[in-house]
Amino acid sequence: MRQYDYIVVGSGLFGAVFAQQARENGKSALVLERREHIGGNCFSENYEDTNINVHRYGTHIFHTNSEDIWRYVNRFTEFNRYQHRVLTTHKNRVYAMPINLGTINQFYGLNLKPCEVDEFIASKREGIANPQNLEEKAISLIGRDLYEAFIKGYTIKQWGCDPTELPAAIITRLPVRTSYYDSYYNDRYQGIPVGGYTPIFERMLEGIPVETGVDFLEDRDYWHRHARQVVYTGPIDRYFGYSEGRLNWRSVKFEYERLALEDYQGTSVMNYADVEVPHTRIHEFKHLHLEKAHTPNTTVIVREYACIDNERPYYPVNSEGDRRRLKAYQELQRREGRIIFGGRLAEYKYYDMHQVIGAALQKARKVMRGEPEAAAVETAGN
Ligand SMILES: Cc1cc2nc3c(=O)[nH]c(=O)nc-3n(C[C@H](O)[C@H](O)[C@H](O)COP(=O)(O)OP(=O)(O)OC[C@H]3O[C@@H](n4cnc5c(N)ncnc54)[C@H](O)[C@@H]3O)c2cc1C
Repeated sequence: MRQYDYIVVGSGLFGAVFAQQARENGKSALVLERREHIGGNCFSENYEDTNINVHRYGTHIFHTNSEDIWRYVNRFTEFNRYQHRVLTTHKNRVYAMPINLGTINQFYGLNLKPCEVDEFIASKREGIANPQNLEEKAISLIGRDLYEAFIKGYTIKQWGCDPTELPAAIITRLPVRTSYYDSYYNDRYQGIPVGGYTPIFERMLEGIPVETGVDFLEDRDYWHRHARQVVYTGPIDRYFGYSEGRLNWRSVKFEYERLALEDYQGTSVMNYADVEVPHTRIHEFKHLHLEKAHTPNTTVIVREYACIDNERPYYPVNSEGDRRRLKAYQELQRREGRIIFGGRLAEYKYYDMHQVIGAALQKARKVMRGEPEAAAVETAGN
């Protein structure tokens, strides 16, 4: 086998962006992917003969405030004009999320004006001086009624435990909008790639050899011998053989259903706030692509269930123990030296897509062109 400048482990956004940048800078790269498809958790494909593009690992909305990241990603796709709005069903009625003036007026049967919201919410708060858990914290921020309707059941389903058992620090604030503004993201740029996400990866990886169905860790010495440097985007604890213990992840299970209906729920994502309903959300993907014709009288929905599953990592649990273990792994990583670790699994960090693109561009520009670190990164939470 020939020698490569980089062997990139993982074809998700971090790996694909890094490999693309390597090629653009005249370096050779080989991408190894454990799954049978490229694109990591952004992978999307058309469902059977429906022409409905489904996101296999949950609905992905692209959004960013960074001109640099937006310009970069637009080299590989055109975006439609989709704007994300989240709705939630509570006791068979549908409300806008995050809580806004419409949610409050509908829930309480009122017609408050924006200038009256703060005072109204303040009258609902219970004065808990030093909240000891998530429930107390939430009640101290928005009052018991809104907490029990919109936060409690959803949290129990997501975390698999009672909110009184969760630390108050999980939430610092619960946004309450004093207007009817119901767009989920505030970013300057937002949309869904017109052909779905997978073509972005096909274009980024054009001219770069990719081997799918290959687990780098099963033969790491072999691959190391054929690369000047390895870029690893898999789970950091697995890389080190779980020597410092396992990092915990929350996960989700998806249940697909094809229905002979034009439209099941009238929106792309519907949350279910009540604990009696076992799923947390229903996705209906055709609503992400209003520009596209789908097979008539057909829709595909996916019920999402939350669970804890370290084999299918989605969201870092990030408990105190996890943070301790992560530190120990980062120390091993520093000693290892010769490898670049990047992306959500290797950094044990919840990254949105624009953030992982920013992190990969920054890393690639630094190692290949010697540019300073600050180039493209947008901070978490944008
Ligand atoms: C349910 C859900 C919804 C989301 N929705 C949004 C959204 O709406 N908007 C948004 O901006 N972001 C969203 N995200 C975040 C987005 O999915 C991530 O930012 C992005 O996928 C991270 O890319 P990555 O390259 O770091 O990781 P990944 O996509 O996980 O890629 C890592 C790849 O490495 C491969 N790999 C691991 N170990 C090995 C090995 N040993 N050998 C070979 N290959 C290996 C894996 O198979 C995987 O393909 C969502 C995430 C989840 C979980």
